[in-house]
Amino acid sequence: MLDLTRRGLFAGAAATAAATMVPRASLALAPSLKGGGYFNYKVGDFDIIALRDGARTFPMPDGFVANISKDKAIEAAAQAYIPGGNITIPFNPMLINTGSKLVLIDTGNGAGAFEASKGAVGNLKNSMAAAGVEPKDVDIVIISHFHGDHINGLKNADGTPAFPNAEIKVPAVEAAFWGDEANAAKANGYNKGNFAGNKKAMEGLKTTPYEADKEVAPGITSVSTPGHTPGHMSFVVSSGNGKLFVQSDVTNIPAFFLRNPDWFVAFDNDPEMAKATRHKVYDMAAAEKMLIAGYHFPFPCMGHVEKDGAGYRLVPAV
Ligand SMILES: [Zn+2]
Repeated sequence: MLDLTRRGLFAGAAATAAATMVPRASLALAPSLKGGGYFNYKVGDFDIIALRDGARTFPMPDGFVANISKDKAIEAAAQAYIPGGNITIPFNPMLINTGSKLVLIDTGNGAGAFEASKGAVGNLKNSMAAAGVEPKDVDIVIISHFHGDHINGLKNADGTPAFPNAEIKVPAVEAAFWGDEANAAKANGYNKGNFAGNKKAMEGLKTTPYEADKEVAPGITSVSTPGHTPGHMSFVVSSGNGKLFVQSDVTNIPAFFLRNPDWFVAFDNDPEMAKATRHKVYDMAAAEKMLIAGYHFPFPCMGHVEKDGAGYRLVPAV
């Protein structure tokens, strides 16, 4: 069970001071918060540290939601208090200290994006430093899927491995799909353009492929949740009586695609499959009253899912 005691949520005064929470009502202000931040909590005996890589706010692009009008998408953003015809997407990797291994799930937008965005994103290392963790301390990096906001942090600005002592575990289906540029013909619009960037992000790194339903680190089991990308993975983190479902990108921002699971985000490679996965995951999460963490959920990016009409709603855990 999630330890919601004060001790569990704020393990020490330093953590309290450094937990740079972004109030949900101020979500659109997130990019002005430089330098990242972290938030720690317990799942069983495991320490979970939600890490802010940052957030991007940008004008709602055409086709951001592929199967509704742009006006309707802008209206949905306004209802989620993202004003001015914009959309805001936060990015939140996660560290898990299992007691025997320090595990990082996904790596943020990376050093290049930090420069280009003037610090709005690419803050993972700053956030880790605030939490007292050095990149060399990480034993295992688990990648959920091959999109730039999850894999571009695998390398430093000079191309060297960002986590020099870590085994890098990647979904076998993802490695095979993105490793063959002929698959660009089968990818949707957004994903077609990702092959070159993915190659650059992964090139020269020693990786270990993993399959679904495997213990990829102590207490962390991979779960196949395809659609967003062909080999997209989620994870069940289990310790004692505690359980956390790390959904990765089953949905992008919950105000849109958890609230409306049948909406297609432009990043989904197979929208119909992604929609089916959303229903399956959230029906399960709602029935089991499971704590769920999302890479693009508002920081500290975890809560519970309830059914709400034809869709779902996220009830933040803090
Ligand atoms: Zn993502």
